[in-house]
Amino acid sequence: MTSESATPVATNFLRNIIESDLAAGRLQGKRWAGQPGPASALAGAHADPARIRTRFPPEPNGYLHIGHAKSICLNFGLARDYGGICHLRFDDTNPEKEEQEYVDAIIDAVKWLGFSWTAHGTEHLYFASNYFPVMYGFAEALITAGHAYVDEQSPETMRAMRGTLTDAGQNSPWRNRPAQESLQLLREMRDGMHPDGSMALRARIDMSAPNINLRDPVLYRIRHAAHHRTGNDWCIYPMYAWAHPVEDALEGITHSICTLEFEDQRPFYDWTLNRLEELGQLARPLPHQYEFARLNMSYVVTSKRKLLQLVKEGHVNGWDDPRMPTLAGLRRRGYTPAALRLFCERTGISKSNSRIDYSLLEQALREEQDPVALRSVAILNPVKLVITNFPEDQAEPCHAPRNPHDPSAGSREFPFTRELWIERDDFVEVPPKKYFRLFPGNTVRLKYGYVVTCTGCVKDESGRITEVHAEYNPDTKSGTPGSNLVKVKGTITWVSADHAIAAEFRLYDRLFSTPFPDAGDSDFLSCLNPHSVQTVQGWLEPGSIATPDVMWQFERLGYFVADAIDSTAEKPVLNRTTTLKDTWADEG
Ligand code: ATP
Ligand code: MG
Repeated sequence: MTSESATPVATNFLRNIIESDLAAGRLQGKRWAGQPGPASALAGAHADPARIRTRFPPEPNGYLHIGHAKSICLNFGLARDYGGICHLRFDDTNPEKEEQEYVDAIIDAVKWLGFSWTAHGTEHLYFASNYFPVMYGFAEALITAGHAYVDEQSPETMRAMRGTLTDAGQNSPWRNRPAQESLQLLREMRDGMHPDGSMALRARIDMSAPNINLRDPVLYRIRHAAHHRTGNDWCIYPMYAWAHPVEDALEGITHSICTLEFEDQRPFYDWTLNRLEELGQLARPLPHQYEFARLNMSYVVTSKRKLLQLVKEGHVNGWDDPRMPTLAGLRRRGYTPAALRLFCERTGISKSNSRIDYSLLEQALREEQDPVALRSVAILNPVKLVITNFPEDQAEPCHAPRNPHDPSAGSREFPFTRELWIERDDFVEVPPKKYFRLFPGNTVRLKYGYVVTCTGCVKDESGRITEVHAEYNPDTKSGTPGSNLVKVKGTITWVSADHAIAAEFRLYDRLFSTPFPDAGDSDFLSCLNPHSVQTVQGWLEPGSIATPDVMWQFERLGYFVADAIDSTAEKPVLNRTTTLKDTWADEG
């Protein structure tokens, strides 16, 4: 392969499946009625304009995290690449934990990542709760056909009768009741005549099936709870494992992609669709479920329950805390949609679980931003450098590229003055071996400025250094003829003390101090890193106006963006997105 060739999209088993489905014409004859619906709605409908349909189906019970980004990029990416459509579907069949706040945040996050669910003028944004009436009809159809029954055993008894991996389950005494009786009871359940847990609708499949998920799984349970969208319309709610294939089928999904934990549910997924198709409720081609390995990352938890706990107990400052692996947090930290998409693409799609190193995410940001991020200088731990032979009232303009890889970005100008801020650790009184920065008698270049020779320092009563002194060589200004005749081994960054902008910098470390905070039954909260954020007051090169949509690369320090919430024009607050080099991998 030549270096000019475009990076090909890595193929994966899902692409292979889609390509062979399309080549074999397996999806031909698929129709689309303009909106989701059962077989009856498809009568007379036109051919589906989408060659494939995928979906991203979040439950609105929390904010999206980096693992969801993987699923979003996968599902929307496949639809884009194969002439398909990807639906954004809220899987809101569980009334208790779902909220409108989460719906809004999820919509925001998917859009921000750069994906759209509008195709051919139609918005493919759906709510599973809109299907409750159709689902209920399907439940009655299953009962009538003898595929489901109302069981009056308690949840505990049902569990005990389910058997184990080695022992078959036992039939419920209600399993063979007449369909008419089950139908009557399901209607009573729906009408609120029975308390939670007193009965449930179950599929009639096989209590001795080797796959426990086929031992008469529950389809509907009673839950007297208000739903964030349907209010008190319903007091029975469908179970996820049954609702999901139904949602997929109503939406004409062709490839239903989920994570590996659902592999054992696939036989029930297929059972549901095939029974409903036989009953004329659904039309072929039916959706197929495929599983891939979820994204796991070192030093990160991606369970919504645990993320919620971090927020609720105040271990972080909200869902969008820049240390959180949520898309809102990563965004506030400075991660860009392009960097996240690159990361998702690069980590690939696999059938076996693994853990991705956090440094891959940082590397994606560096690669994406290095060609475009604006360069500037910041001093995070300042000490004053006084150029004792430079006139007090003079300001000598200096120039530097805005981005060395992109001449079209132009140059920036900032003044060199008698008093400068430099990093405190760029001066020592007694240099260790191989220290080439400032110490008495040593000569260094002040980057884009002059060559200076250190003459000493001033201390306060406590012995703390308050000023470093140096003399400059007027013939060495960067960019002027002969400026590089004086050879130096060290170059340091600086800003004019008279012109620099005071700013706060927030320097982040990993939120957890162990690589696998959610492994086994270890208490993930006990692994919180107490030093996950360090806040320092420093100085910013004049002209570096900080807004959250501009990424800066501060020389030697890393990539930074203004904090979207706390930063103001008077008092910029900058979050470090990542350092310039991989400091995590080094630490081992
Ligand atoms: P949690 O278990 O933390 O609540 P979830 O998987 O239940 O997460 P959903 O809202 O149901 O969250 O997820 C929506 C979609 O995102 C699902 O299709 C799911 O497979 C996918 N997804 C969630 N987490 C990951 C992950 N870590 N890697 C890849 N895909 C994921
Ligand atoms: Mg889920």
